Amino acid sequence: MTDGCPYLEYRALSEAGRAESRAYCTAADEFVQPMRADICNDRYDLDHETDCEIYREAEGLSEGVEGEGAGGD
Ligand code: SF4
Repeated sequence: MTDGCPYLEYRALSEAGRAESRAYCTAADEFVQPMRADICNDRYDLDHETDCEIYREAEGLSEGVEGEGAGGD
C-alpha cells in the first residue's frame, strides 16, 4: 500500500484573480486531469506504480504489467 505518487504536487492555479490548488505531475510537468488524480492518490484500488504510464516511464519500468490481467487463458 502506498500513500500516492511521489511525483504528485499541489500547485496554485491562477485563474482570473482566483488561486486554487490543483494536482500537478512533476514527471509530466503539467496539471493532472481530475480522473487521473485518482491514480496519483491511489484511490479506488488504483496504484500509480501499475496504472500510470507516466510514472512507469519516469521510473524506467517496462510497459507490461505483471499480475492481474496479464496473459490470458
Ligand atoms: S500522473 Fe502519474 S506520474 Fe504523474 S503524479 Fe500522477 S501517478 Fe504520478
